Amino acid sequence: MPQRQHIAIVGGGASGTLLAWQLARQGLAGMTTLLDPAEAPGAGLAYSTSFPQHLVNVRNETLSADPSDAGHLLRWVHAMHDPGAGPDGFIPRRWFGDYLRTLFRESGVRHRRGVAVAMERRSCGPVLLLADGSRLHATHVVLATGNFPPPPLPELDDAAIASGRYHHDVWDPDALGRIGPDEDVVLIGTGLSTVDAVLRLRAQAHRGALVAVSRRAWLPEVHRALTVPGSPVVGADVQATARGYLAAFRRALRDGIPAAAAVDSLRATSNALWLALSENEKRRFRRHLQRRWDVVRRRMAPMVGAAVTEALRDESLTLRRGRVTAVRQDGDALAITVRTPGGTDTIRAGHAINTTGPDPRYGRGESPLLRTLLQEGLAVAGFEGEGLRCDADGAVLDRQDRPTPDLFSLGPPRMGTLFESVAIPEIRAQAAALAAHLREAIHPETARGG
Ligand SMILES: Cc1cc2nc3c(=O)[nH]c(=O)nc-3n(C[C@H](O)[C@H](O)[C@H](O)COP(=O)(O)OP(=O)(O)OC[C@H]3O[C@@H](n4cnc5c(N)ncnc54)[C@H](O)[C@@H]3O)c2cc1C
Repeated sequence: MPQRQHIAIVGGGASGTLLAWQLARQGLAGMTTLLDPAEAPGAGLAYSTSFPQHLVNVRNETLSADPSDAGHLLRWVHAMHDPGAGPDGFIPRRWFGDYLRTLFRESGVRHRRGVAVAMERRSCGPVLLLADGSRLHATHVVLATGNFPPPPLPELDDAAIASGRYHHDVWDPDALGRIGPDEDVVLIGTGLSTVDAVLRLRAQAHRGALVAVSRRAWLPEVHRALTVPGSPVVGADVQATARGYLAAFRRALRDGIPAAAAVDSLRATSNALWLALSENEKRRFRRHLQRRWDVVRRRMAPMVGAAVTEALRDESLTLRRGRVTAVRQDGDALAITVRTPGGTDTIRAGHAINTTGPDPRYGRGESPLLRTLLQEGLAVAGFEGEGLRCDADGAVLDRQDRPTPDLFSLGPPRMGTLFESVAIPEIRAQAAALAAHLREAIHPETARGG
């Protein structure tokens, strides 16, 4: 007897939710289960924040769940929160979390609370083993497992961990609330997670000094009104090397195109440009250009930028160049060792927060499911040991480099292969394409006709 078709989505953040919603549009809701430990799936890590100061970092018009209907999110925001919100605005992330929860409810997909810790392949198809000892049988599994806490620090004292003064997970809703208003804090990193922490601390009337440390001490730039060139500033004909791309980019800057507009012109083609690079050229890009790219590409909403500028101006926030190499307990505080261009410094502070961003190396990470998939060769890590190797449909590649017909991924795990895969504009497109692909796999007779 043929196996009853069943899709299991592992993870109910933005990626799993957008996929569930798209599967419902393909008529597959009844054969789909979404597995996630949350009480109500939807918001995931990025959009569960309850702080109104935490805004989305792309304009409302680019965040609609439906790639072909830019107004879908805005109509919902107008009805539910703010009739005056515009396409160029930046809504609070918690509103976007509400929107995602609504989409999940609308989808009609079944939610099963739980965490998958391993996957077995049986003759009847993949079987997910859950932490509570139960099993979930499926014919297709989609890893929408998203983001995990930051990578470990090189040296972290057990006493520092036990003291409760070192905060490894900046998104832990309670951790930052325990920081006293006058305690000094070292923020490890200067990216968007750092900005989140600064906003959060300011919102709780924190008065102590905030020192943010990173190798270059560059903060993300701020969104401004821009005219984006109609065609990408690095064309498909440019030699596929980091140097070739940089030369074309610099030509655009010399022609008077602002860096942010030049970066935005590449949004639709940056994955193709990345895939055209050899491994060596990707490494070169990572080493010399990635961070410069990131601060322009991942910009802050204007209101967020204004709050950060204010914190820099009143010196409640200062930036330091260097690399944090150790965090140790030092009496009733922490001693944070920073390797700087000129030597080694030690900063004494009441608390240290790791704001270096999600750990993309699943092999060493927190997820038993991803770790065992990698160990068993059912999946392989992508570029530089990060994310997963996938084909263009999101099928996960196995140790023999073969796409698996029953194991897929979307969102952050595809960063092992792609250059852009964590933001909503990419995730929603992947969700729509993967839902269509699964429908074709499950009902080839209906899908071929459109
Ligand atoms: C703080 C932050 C802010 C961001 N802001 C923006 C923004 O403004 N705009 C933008 O475009 N992008 C933003 N991003 C990018 C963000 O990565 C994506 O927008 C999106 O939220 C990723 O969603 P996800 O579902 O893939 O991951 P997650 O939100 O991490 O969700 C993954 C879910 O999977 C569950 N899960 C994991 N493993 C298992 C398992 N084994 N079994 C069961 N469940 C499991 C987790 O519990 C979690 O609920 C932001 C990212 C972060 C971290």
